[in-house]
Amino acid sequence: MSRLLNVDNLETKFRTADGHLPAVRKISFSVDKEETLCIVGESGCGKSITSLSIMGLLPSNGEITGGSIRLDDENLIGKSEEEMEQLRGNALSMIFQEPMTALNPVLTIGYQLREPLTIHKNMSKKEATKASIELLDKVGIPDSKEKLDQYPHELSGGMRQRVMIAMALACEPSLLVADEPTTALDVTIQAQILDLIHELQSDIGMGVIFVTHDMGVVADIADRVMVMYAGEVVEVADVESIFENPQHPYTKGLLESVPDVDDVSQELQVIKGSMPGLNDEISGCRFHLRCPFATEVCKHKEPPSFEVTPTHYSKCWLQEVNQSGQPDTIT
Ligand code: SF4
Ligand code: MG
Repeated sequence: MSRLLNVDNLETKFRTADGHLPAVRKISFSVDKEETLCIVGESGCGKSITSLSIMGLLPSNGEITGGSIRLDDENLIGKSEEEMEQLRGNALSMIFQEPMTALNPVLTIGYQLREPLTIHKNMSKKEATKASIELLDKVGIPDSKEKLDQYPHELSGGMRQRVMIAMALACEPSLLVADEPTTALDVTIQAQILDLIHELQSDIGMGVIFVTHDMGVVADIADRVMVMYAGEVVEVADVESIFENPQHPYTKGLLESVPDVDDVSQELQVIKGSMPGLNDEISGCRFHLRCPFATEVCKHKEPPSFEVTPTHYSKCWLQEVNQSGQPDTIT
């Protein structure tokens, strides 16, 4: 596998009346071809802002203030809006939680599917119509030919979601960014859509960034998992290590807050406290106010990202204790 996306020291801030507030704090990660990286964390942790930064779709008061985002070795930061538009719907595609925000309500499904194919793939209208029908078949939409003449509001939520996925996959992107695309759907359709993304991923070799707060979905689809907290990456590892050997107290908290379907008597654990706001400056480890393992050093000194194994990193001082041979206090 070769590196598809390299994000290095990305910093994204929001201009507000209170100044420039950091939403993403110098994070680094990569995605390989054919790989699925899940980004997890509570809402407000920076996972959606990370996706929007990659896509060049930040809200108007958002701004990338540092770092680089390299797709196939080309830096996306500093590209003009036109250049980004050319990339989106071609090498880069995104699917959102709410398909109505991505679909244009006044244009037919057929028009919206054909458009990227005629623009980016230089297809004739006839070729694009044929390709659109094939795409709708691929995403499991029945009577695909008739659907081309319909408008988004004439379809059910699950069908609209499939149309949006068909649109996102139309140009066979190198990288698909999916931000909670299945959260609003019922579980059967959710499972079908996850299967479909996976199938197309191995067909066309695309890398996938999948943003979710659902650890069940993570277990199903991730190759690697990146856990974010308050704008930072606190742990990253292959999916087995995240579930079998989580190191960061925040990751452990997230896993414990997943209800066990086999044990209804079990009380749902939630991580106490709430995430700091963007403008809360917190000394030391940004999780220390909520961490049951916090010690003096955690309050004053920011932990580096420690290597647990070559595919597993945790930004927590407990790792230093483990690595220096002292008893592991958190197992
Ligand atoms: Fe908890 Fe300290 Fe680790 Fe932060 S560095 S997660 S406060 S133990
Ligand atoms: Mg979000």
